Amino acid sequence: MTTQSNVSTSALQTYDVVVVGGGIAGLTVAYRIENNNVLLLEKEPVVGGRTLSVNMGPYVFNQGAQMIPGGETNVAKLADELGLELTLINKTKTSTYINDKFVIASSEFKYLLDLPIPLVEKIKMGLKILRIRSRYSDVVDKSPRSRDPKFLELDEKTLVDLLNIRDPDVKALWDSISKSSSTLRADQVASFQPVNTFLHHAADEFFVEGGTVEVTRALANQTAARVETGASVIRVASSDTGVAIQYEQNGTTHSVQARKCVMAVPAPVALSVLRDLPDAKRAALAQCEYGAMSSAAFLVDKPSEHFFGKGNWRVPVVGMTTIGIGDPTFTFSEDVKLQDGRGLIRLYAGDHGSRTLQQMSDDAALEVFENDLFHIFPAARGLVLERSLKHWPYAICPWRIGRLDAIDDIRSPHNNIHYCGDYTENSGLESAVLSALRVVSELSNGQ
Ligand SMILES: Cc1cc2nc3c(=O)[nH]c(=O)nc-3n(C[C@H](O)[C@H](O)[C@H](O)COP(=O)(O)OP(=O)(O)OC[C@H]3O[C@@H](n4cnc5c(N)ncnc54)[C@H](O)[C@@H]3O)c2cc1C
Repeated sequence: MTTQSNVSTSALQTYDVVVVGGGIAGLTVAYRIENNNVLLLEKEPVVGGRTLSVNMGPYVFNQGAQMIPGGETNVAKLADELGLELTLINKTKTSTYINDKFVIASSEFKYLLDLPIPLVEKIKMGLKILRIRSRYSDVVDKSPRSRDPKFLELDEKTLVDLLNIRDPDVKALWDSISKSSSTLRADQVASFQPVNTFLHHAADEFFVEGGTVEVTRALANQTAARVETGASVIRVASSDTGVAIQYEQNGTTHSVQARKCVMAVPAPVALSVLRDLPDAKRAALAQCEYGAMSSAAFLVDKPSEHFFGKGNWRVPVVGMTTIGIGDPTFTFSEDVKLQDGRGLIRLYAGDHGSRTLQQMSDDAALEVFENDLFHIFPAARGLVLERSLKHWPYAICPWRIGRLDAIDDIRSPHNNIHYCGDYTENSGLESAVLSALRVVSELSNGQ
């Protein structure tokens, strides 16, 4: 007996543009493009990609992106335009959990003094931070350009080499920033990503009221495009008349035709569905290997400030599976927090730790996070009311040494197929939006 898959036999529908992937990049293209004949295909039952959020108590667990970078960023302007409410994350403390202790201070200077490293290392670290600020502040959130000397410097050296890091405790501190920005250690990743993240952390960051997913929800609601969810694209191939796209939805295989196709999925997914890729393009996309991340949230029977103290939003963690712990209730009003009496604590793990967690049952992975939580905050023991977990197999595309050489090939369109997504810039929401704006301009210039 042969099994037959259900194949849609309706006349082949033709669109001007088909967008593959309903994360912030794909949705921004669909929202910005001035065309009513656009189809967006998203594999999951809901759009959002790495912006998904869920409610826990009166609070929000941002399972992926927690904050949007402020200032003059494109993503902040987009959120404003969509009518979303942004709250400044008014962090007043710098902190790290290292050697089983919190180092928390109200200024960077005091923080440096309190770090458990030799005095000479404190001085060296202070000077290096000044140097990073003065030399690289103007490349934050900018589109990496292959001929820009500052990007070249950040592309050709690991963070360990750029900062000449020798002391193991200092290295462990920079590792925690590197892992949160790239999933790799400071001696594995090009300086570009951790330097960007370090400068970001000190700048304005915003919480999206209702959760980061509100940005992608608003884009999906306000686009003129037809949005199909639960539609997993399995094949994209150029044809004489444009691009042929095949997708599966509810057990049926559908085929559609497009004049142009926008791939707004992580690079490994693009590689797996695209046929007949030019060699240079295939090689460039193959460089974009992703690191994994896992995040967990615990609703606890005491306000989060009871554990974190005031002004402390995000704490890098050194030497555990958890690489960062934070307070998702930070921007909620005192009234809500006092009235509710509960708190929410978010932990996350990077590449190696996350891959190990992803092989366990959800309960076992949550136990690992919970043990880290109790180690960091013993007072949380017995207070956990609810827990939630999310794994991201494609969390971040780490910027490895020399990627700048491939960046033009990673971005370039070919045979009516265009590429967007955070990995075509750096990583993060601003990169995803930047990439979408580039693709919209490519499409409107008839490229
Ligand atoms: C844990 C975590 C924390 C983060 N924190 C921050 C933060 O605080 N601030 C920040 O700026 N950034 C943060 N980021 C990064 C940010 O979330 C991403 O850079 C951004 O969301 C990427 O958007 P994208 O549209 O490029 O990709 P994605 O959001 O990954 O969108 C791709 C979409 O394609 C879909 N798809 C995949 N395969 C198919 C297929 N075959 N057919 C159809 N659809 C498919 C996916 O389901 C997905 O919806 C974080 C990421 C993670 C994982």
